Amino acid sequence: MVFENILGQQRVKNFFEKALKSQRLSHAYLFVGDRGVGKEAMALELAKALFCEKSGACSAEPCPNCMRVSKLSYPDLHFIFPAPAIIKDKAKEKVNEAKRVQILESVAANPYLRAELWANPMISIDKIRELRRQSSYKSFEGRGRIAIIVDAERMSEEAANSVLKILEEPPEKMYLLMISSRPNLLLPTISSRCQIIKFEPLKATEIEQAIIENYNIEQEKSRLTSRLASGSYRRAVELLDDNIQEMQNQSLEFFRKSVQSEFTQILYVDELLKACQRDLKKVKDLLSLLLIWFRDALVFRETGESNQELLIYAEAFETLNNFTQKFPNADLQSAVIAIEESLEQMNRNVQINLILIVLLNKLRTFVRR
Ligand SMILES: [Zn+2]
Repeated sequence: MVFENILGQQRVKNFFEKALKSQRLSHAYLFVGDRGVGKEAMALELAKALFCEKSGACSAEPCPNCMRVSKLSYPDLHFIFPAPAIIKDKAKEKVNEAKRVQILESVAANPYLRAELWANPMISIDKIRELRRQSSYKSFEGRGRIAIIVDAERMSEEAANSVLKILEEPPEKMYLLMISSRPNLLLPTISSRCQIIKFEPLKATEIEQAIIENYNIEQEKSRLTSRLASGSYRRAVELLDDNIQEMQNQSLEFFRKSVQSEFTQILYVDELLKACQRDLKKVKDLLSLLLIWFRDALVFRETGESNQELLIYAEAFETLNNFTQKFPNADLQSAVIAIEESLEQMNRNVQINLILIVLLNKLRTFVRR
């Protein structure tokens, strides 16, 4: 089966399966969607489908061409990514070159986990010039040419204008696959000339299955991680390094503070933000875990003991049991909504400490009914 290395994304798979079958690939695609949902992986699978010696039917035992695509060493595959331009300072250039290699290796190892090693790298005009130069020749292997441009929104203005020229007069049998998680930063003249392919966030179950297959972790951790990952496989893998147990305890500790005095809460929120070093992602993870916990409490109260497999926090069964007995009238639905709203507000740069204090007060009201 084609595209079996791609998690989820059935709609995108169907689309390209059809396009390949009818040999109607467009010259330029723009893959949009969050980081870690499979855009690079799909681009590489497309390259395999095009360059494969067995017309894409070699997935169990990859042919030499498919292997070379995976390793990014196939001569007609151009993998362009943001990186600092080559500089004269030899020592610094050596470091940068090592990082460029590291990025390519990370993609070859797993395209979902492309390394990002600079704060604000750009795609310089040189890379696109080189691509245009090469594409004026015949492809090496006679199967056409594919250029993958990742983080395309990071093209310099000159680079973008040069890409525009490719789009206006596409060389024969050359396919441009541009990838962006922030497509609104691309020149409209570029995006309007590409066929836009939208990648959806992955389902938690798809992520869960993949991390269980690839990493040796216990079920509860994989369940929590996949639900915290907001649809990104990459985020889930990053989360594996974090201590979820500790985060869980912190999220319940947060909830317990809701019944304490306002003064205690203010001190606590201050401490918490210091501990998270004002890292918004960490605070969000904490609230997301609490959200999962409250949703669990809701499921637990509705379905009772018989449905333990529905719970994410299956191991927190006792705690849930005690909680629902102690607060039988808690308005769990409103608590869930309050947490969701707080998470939403955090995306809009409202003061975090304020959001947390307000949430604590709401939780107290909803739980102690
Ligand atoms: Zn092959």
